[in-house]
Amino acid sequence: MDNDSASGLKSLFDHYFAHGCPCRFPRFRATVSRDMKAIGAAEWDISDIPALLQIFDRRVELVKETETDYSVKGRCNLCNAQVYRWGAPLFRDSFIERARITPGDLPDVGADADGPVPIYGSVYQAAPGSVTRVERERIEDSFPRLSLPLWLEYMKALR
Ligand SMILES: [Zn+2]
Repeated sequence: MDNDSASGLKSLFDHYFAHGCPCRFPRFRATVSRDMKAIGAAEWDISDIPALLQIFDRRVELVKETETDYSVKGRCNLCNAQVYRWGAPLFRDSFIERARITPGDLPDVGADADGPVPIYGSVYQAAPGSVTRVERERIEDSFPRLSLPLWLEYMKALR
């Protein structure tokens, strides 16, 4: 991750905590639970998601309920949302990382996620395999793409 991304993501989480926590932002929830199977690309991933979850794991304290090798279920210490944080090994050291966050009783503070949430990072094949150029382009173009500053603005938007 380059410096702009690192400082941008830090500012994003600072913003989340200034307004509660990331669980209360529908656009965050939609991004980190994104299902690549929906576009027929189960072995592909988007770099935004592991980048967000790496910080989420560090900064969001979970009251753990159950834990396995690749998953943790628990509740956010701040908002009581139910968090199912999991990873699935795909190939050697490549993982698909996701979190399914079910809000608790506190209202959302972030803007709604209407339509497919945009991305700013790279779309990549997480397991080896050959795909045609057309198929690669189809997968890469399945999501609206924003520059980092515009994506941060989108992710930070309040209700
Ligand atoms: Zn929370």
